Formats: sequence, structure tokens, C-alpha cells
Amino acid sequence: MKKFLHFINGEFVASASGKTFEDRNPVDGSLIGTVCEGGRPEVDAAVAAARAAMKGPWGQMPITQRVELLYKVADEINRRFDDFLAAEVADTGKPVSLASHIDIPRGAANFKIFADVIKNVPTETFQMSTPDGGAVLNYALRKPRGVVAVVCPWNLPLLLMTWKVGPALACGNAVVVKPSEETPATATLLGEVMNAVGIPKGVYNVVHGLGPDSAGEFLTAHPDIDAITFTGETRTGEAIMGAASRGLRPVSFELGGKNAGIVFADADFDAAVEGISRAAFANCGQVCLGTERVYVERPIFDRFVAALKDKAEALKPGLPGEKATGIGPLISQEHRRKVLGYYAKAKDEGATVVTGGGVPEMPHALQAGSWVQPTIWTGLPETSPVIREEIFGPCCHIAPFDREEEAVALANDTPYGLCTTVWTGNLGRAHRVAAGIDVGIAWINSWFLRDLRTPFGGSKQSGIGREGGVHSLEFYTELRNVCIKYA
Ligand code: NAD
Repeated sequence: MKKFLHFINGEFVASASGKTFEDRNPVDGSLIGTVCEGGRPEVDAAVAAARAAMKGPWGQMPITQRVELLYKVADEINRRFDDFLAAEVADTGKPVSLASHIDIPRGAANFKIFADVIKNVPTETFQMSTPDGGAVLNYALRKPRGVVAVVCPWNLPLLLMTWKVGPALACGNAVVVKPSEETPATATLLGEVMNAVGIPKGVYNVVHGLGPDSAGEFLTAHPDIDAITFTGETRTGEAIMGAASRGLRPVSFELGGKNAGIVFADADFDAAVEGISRAAFANCGQVCLGTERVYVERPIFDRFVAALKDKAEALKPGLPGEKATGIGPLISQEHRRKVLGYYAKAKDEGATVVTGGGVPEMPHALQAGSWVQPTIWTGLPETSPVIREEIFGPCCHIAPFDREEEAVALANDTPYGLCTTVWTGNLGRAHRVAAGIDVGIAWINSWFLRDLRTPFGGSKQSGIGREGGVHSLEFYTELRNVCIKYA
């Protein structure tokens, strides 16, 4: 059985308190190992190590050398691809086909892309004349923020963590990572990678633990943290923003969503069904960019519902490594209780359950896993909590619409604003609708296509700030203007 230790100042250490919690495999409920629960002493030690790294060789290292090291981190993740894959699959239960295509390669790529960005992005200069006939040259220097707290969720553990750690380190910061309590493995493994390639001690630290009254809260409230980047639920973001307000620390937030998919009758029907099926059910619906509200133009409504039903029913739950597996379990029994609560609520409110709505029959060995059926509903009023609140499971409600403006209004009727996916064959409409929906990301005839140079983030209650490409530099660095007067 494994024991997941903290990674502080280049060393793997247990908690001073001796406290641990369990890490369970959601496929069958088996115990993967125990995880050390960090308290104030571990958070203090990790923040101090990061601060010392900023004052040491890391703080002085030329960009070229930093960039070379980050390339080595990416190469080492790829060299140990199978170890990362096994660790991620054990923690999340997601199909190997998904993790090997997305989680691990993107986890490695995040180090290279931001190394390239920081190497190539210039800063501005302005010349100005002065009334006394002299001249002034202004130029900007890009400085790291310092010690950055990185608080992560469990749905794409390595990918979403490196999406923050990659740019933070590329910009010359040191980090203290608090991985989700559900998925401690890959953040820990990354500590081994950092040591193997020679990242100086204290630059990358990991403290395991829970959120409130545990490592998450202690880290985000720590007075020696210079900035906080967080991905997770909107409610948690509110708590962290409270902590960040003391000392006026900047935050970058990627939060929850209740994303709408819109399908027009002029869309490529099969492509739309395929796209919405992925958006609703990929990663067992545990993707922040997923679609839980689908609006379909009335002439194709019945046909669309039937086609999506076929897609949902074709997704076979099973072991991550099996070729036939189309869907894994939810992350935990606790999360399953939440999702099944919404399944029950939908029934109580009189939804038509097109498919699913419960727990699939699984072989005896997998019955302790967190399985749920992919589920489609129709017939609920827009005021239903099932339509208004983020469920984060493999489910969606489908409603018909008649006019373009109506579809846009329905999509916008939410406190969230992360993304949308719109399917149409009409170019003018595509541009109009993309501009009309209040989101950070609008996909047209596609979903989850990511160019890592583009701005990523949410509007309204789905986030604060944008990361990706040069936009990440805005959060992970501060610009200092240098003004020189010369005769
Ligand atoms: P969560 O908010 O419950 O937890 C995320 C992290 O915050 C965990 O590490 C947790 O321990 C920590 N935490 C919890 N309470 C805390 C507190 N008071 N102070 C400090 N840290 C605290 O989220 P989750 O359940 O792990 O992830 C699912 C959520 O993440 C969904 O809402 C999903 O939409 C969102 N998400 C958003 C994006 C995005 O890019 N917008 C991406 C992935 C997931």
C-alpha cells in the first residue's frame, strides 16, 4: 500500500501530526494508499522553502536556463509516461484511452508551451521628450510575483495543476501546490521529476490535505503567499477570495459552470450529436467545460434526443484499461451521492428520463465503485435546480427552442459563464451567437478544442482572469516600468 508524502524543499516528508486520510480507487472502492494530511507546520515549511528558493539560485537564474530545465521536466514526464498514466488512472478511474490522450501528454506539454512563451514575448518600450529638451526612455521589466499558491481540483489532476505550475515556473516564481484530496498521486510523482532534472530545492512544493481548516485554507491564508491560482467550485473560490483579500493578494480563478450547448436545425446533424455527446459524457461528465443544458431547434428536437440517447446507451462502463470501456466512474462515493441527488430531484420534478437516471449493473468486483448511468432528461422547467445548478455528472437536460434570440437568452440565463458549444451551418449566425453568449470560450461546431496560446477562463461566476499563452504572464508576472531620462 502506498503512502503519499508531502514534497517540501526537495524532500518527501510526512506530517508532523502523523495525521493521514485515505486515497481510494473509484473503480472498485479499493484502498490505493494513505495520504499525509498537512497542517500549519507543513504549509509554513513549504512557503519558507519557496521563499528561500526565490532568494537563491532560482531567483537569479537566466530565462534561457530556466526554459531548458522546464523542457527537461516535460521530457521526464514523457519518459515516465506509464508511471503518470497508472497513477492518474488509479486515482480517477478514467479510461486509459482518455488519460493517455489528454491528461498526461497535456500535463507534459504545459511545461514546454509556457517555456516558449516566456522566451519569446517582448515587453514594451516608449520614448518621450521632456520640456527641457531632454529625452526619456521607458521600458518594462517582467518580474515574477514570488511565491504562488496553486490549489487544484480532481477532475484532470495533472493537466490542470501543470496548467498553473508550468507558467508559474516559466515566469520565475516558486510554487506551493495543494492537490485535491481525491487525487494526490501525480502531484507527488512530479516531485520526483523535479529532483531528477535538477529543479532547485524549494521551487516546487506539494502539501497534501483537505480544504477548510486544513492545508487548503492554511495555504491560501498564509501571509507570505504573493498570489493564489485556484481551479474548483465557485463557492470555494468565494472562500479563497476572502482569504486573499487579507494582504490584497491577486487571484486567478477557474470556477464552476452550467454550460449551454445549442444545436440549430441547419447544423451537420451527426457532428452535432457526436459533439454534444462528448460534451455531456466525457470523463463521466466531470469536465468544467461540459454541457449540462442542451437547446435544440424544434424541427430536429425529437430526432436529436433519440440520437443522443443511442450515444449515451452505447457508452459501456468498465475497467479503465479495457478497450470497450466508454465511461469510467465518478470520482468518489460522496460525489456520486450528490449526482444521484440530482437524478432523484429530476424525477421528483416530473422530468422525462430519456435514458439512465440511476446506477448501472456492474460485475461483483466493481460494485463498490462510484458508477452512475449517463442520463438525459427532457421536460423540466428552466427554473429547476437540475437546470440551474452545476451537477458535474454524465447528464444533460434537452429543451427545444424556436428562434435564435430565444436560444441565446436561454444560454445566458445563468449566473455562470464558462463556455458554450454551438452547432450551425450558417456562418453569420455562428458569429452572432458567439458574440451574444456571455462566456469566456465559445466553441462553434466543436468542443474542447484547445490551442494553449488562446485565453482560457470564465465570465460571471465562472472565474476571474484569463490564463493561456501570454495571458498567463499577466497573472504570473508583474510589469515594472523603468523610466530613464537622458540629455
Ligand atoms: P473544490 O472547490 O471542492 O476543491 C478544489 C480544491 O480546493 C481542492 O484541492 C480542495 O481541497 C480545495 N479547497 C476546498 N475548500 C477550500 C478552502 N476553504 N480553502 C482553500 N482550499 C479549499 O472543487 P472540486 O470538487 O475539486 O472540483 C470540481 C469543481 O471544479 C467544479 O465546480 C468544476 O466546474 C470546477 N472546475 C473548473 C475548471 C475551470 O477551468 N473553470 C476546471 C476544472 C474544474
